[in-house]
Amino acid sequence: EQDAAYLISLIRTIPDFPKKGILFRDFIPALADPRGLSILLKAMMETLPVPADQFDAVAGLEARGFLIGPQLATSLGKGFLALRKKGKLPPQTFGQEYSLEYGSAMIEMEKDCLHDGERVLIVDDLIATGGSAQAAAKLIEQAGGQVAGFSFAMELEGLEGRHSLDRYPVTTLMTMP
Ligand code: IMP
Repeated sequence: EQDAAYLISLIRTIPDFPKKGILFRDFIPALADPRGLSILLKAMMETLPVPADQFDAVAGLEARGFLIGPQLATSLGKGFLALRKKGKLPPQTFGQEYSLEYGSAMIEMEKDCLHDGERVLIVDDLIATGGSAQAAAKLIEQAGGQVAGFSFAMELEGLEGRHSLDRYPVTTLMTMP
């Protein structure tokens, strides 16, 4: 309880970033704090959406998913799959496009990183609408993998992000308006 309150106290809220009207939740100060970082990683380990023997690899979304995913993967004895923004990886890649409020974006993963049928836990710092998480799931499935579940540090409530992932087990540590 005390740990949870301490961790939440380290989440910074920035109004009107990156655009007017958006309340940006920033967990970077929690990573910078030794106690905060240790509480965050321990809590994510303890709230996996499925037991660790039910997945083979951890995938993280660029960029903030890269700050927690490899650490979880190491602690669990799994490999880490980097889901990157378009154009950063050399071919051969799988790609998945998704819609943003204005326009679209694409995430990519290198071919040959994922073995057929491999079960993957997808991690990111935050789920808002769930658009990027859904794209991540499609990318893993396109590559021949299976999505075992999702683990997020933060969830923005009222955006139905979790609802968009209701085919999968999902856990989030902190829910915020
Ligand atoms: P979604 O696709 O709408 O669920 O947005 C989630 C993605 O956007 C994640 O990769 C987040 O890192 C990023 N994101 C959206 N809103 C925030 C925020 O308030 N703080 C930090 N990241 C955010």
